[in-house]
Amino acid sequence: MPNAFSIVFLGTLALSTAPADSPDPLTRPMPGKPEWTRAHAPIRIYGNTYYVGSEGISALLVDTGAGLILLDVGLPQSAPLVEANIAKLGFKLKDIKYVLNSHAHFDHAGGIAALVRDSGATAIASPSGAKALREGHVAADDPQASDTADATFPAAARVREIADGEAMRLGDTAITAHFTPGHTPGSTTWTWKSCENGTCLDVVYSDSISAYASDGFHFLADATHGDLTASFRKSIHTVANLPCDILVSTHLEASGSDARLAKLALRREPNPMIDTQACRRFAADYEKMLDERIAKEKTEAQAR
Ligand SMILES: [Zn+2]
Repeated sequence: MPNAFSIVFLGTLALSTAPADSPDPLTRPMPGKPEWTRAHAPIRIYGNTYYVGSEGISALLVDTGAGLILLDVGLPQSAPLVEANIAKLGFKLKDIKYVLNSHAHFDHAGGIAALVRDSGATAIASPSGAKALREGHVAADDPQASDTADATFPAAARVREIADGEAMRLGDTAITAHFTPGHTPGSTTWTWKSCENGTCLDVVYSDSISAYASDGFHFLADATHGDLTASFRKSIHTVANLPCDILVSTHLEASGSDARLAKLALRREPNPMIDTQACRRFAADYEKMLDERIAKEKTEAQAR
C-alpha cells in the first residue's frame, strides 16, 4: 500500500490498462498509481540478481543455479508483466521454486497467487504474512486493515512459513529472512550475496518501513494493542545495520532505487546500484517519519 512518498498521489488513483472484466480472477486489476503497473525492462542488477518488476513496484529474480527465486510480484494485474520480464531474460517460469514476499499488501503480494499457479512455485512469508497470503486478506492487526477497498487480494494456493533469521537455500544461494514488523505485522526484509567476477556483494531487499496507517490506528498503545513503536524502531535499525552493498526497496522511489536502476540502464561500470550508505539513509528517512507519526499521535491523545 502507499508509502510516505506516495500518499500525496492518492487523489489521482487510476485503474491500470488491463480490462476491469479480466476473465482471470487472479490477475483482475486493482487500482493504484499508474507507474505501479507500468512496464519496466528487466535488467541484471548484479551477479545472479535481476530486476523484473514494474516501473514503481519491485520484483527481483535470483538465479541460484538450481532453480529461480522470485521476490514479490506487485499488483494482481502485474503478474503477466513480471512473467514476460522473466521470459525476456531467457528464464523459464517453471524453474521458479519459491516466491518470497516482503509484506502482504495487494501492491506487492496481489500477483503472487497468479505466479504460484503459473510456475508451480511455493510462496514463502513470515507467519503473519503467510496467513494473509493464504486468506487473500491483510492481517486483522495490520495498520491499514480498515482500508477495506484494497484489503482483499487473490489468495495463493501454496504458502509456507519462514522463521526470523531462517534462510531459503537453493543451489548456491541462501536468502535470509529478517523480520521487520511495523508497516505490517508480518513485514520481512530479505538479504543474500550475489557474486560477479569473483566479487561477492551483500544485497538487501528491504521491506517498506513507512509508518503509514488507516485513520484511527495508533502505533502507540491503545485499547486494542500495546505500544508498537519500539518494535517498529527496532525494525528500522535492523535495516540500517544490515551488511548492505546494494539496496532495493519494495517501492523503488522510497529509497532512490528508481534513480539507481535508471543509471544502471546507461552504464554498468562502476555499477550505479552499489551504494553502501543506501540502507542507512533509507532507515534514517523513515525513522523521521515514525518520529513525526508518534509526535502526532501524542498530540492527538492529549487533545482527547
Ligand atoms: Zn504496504
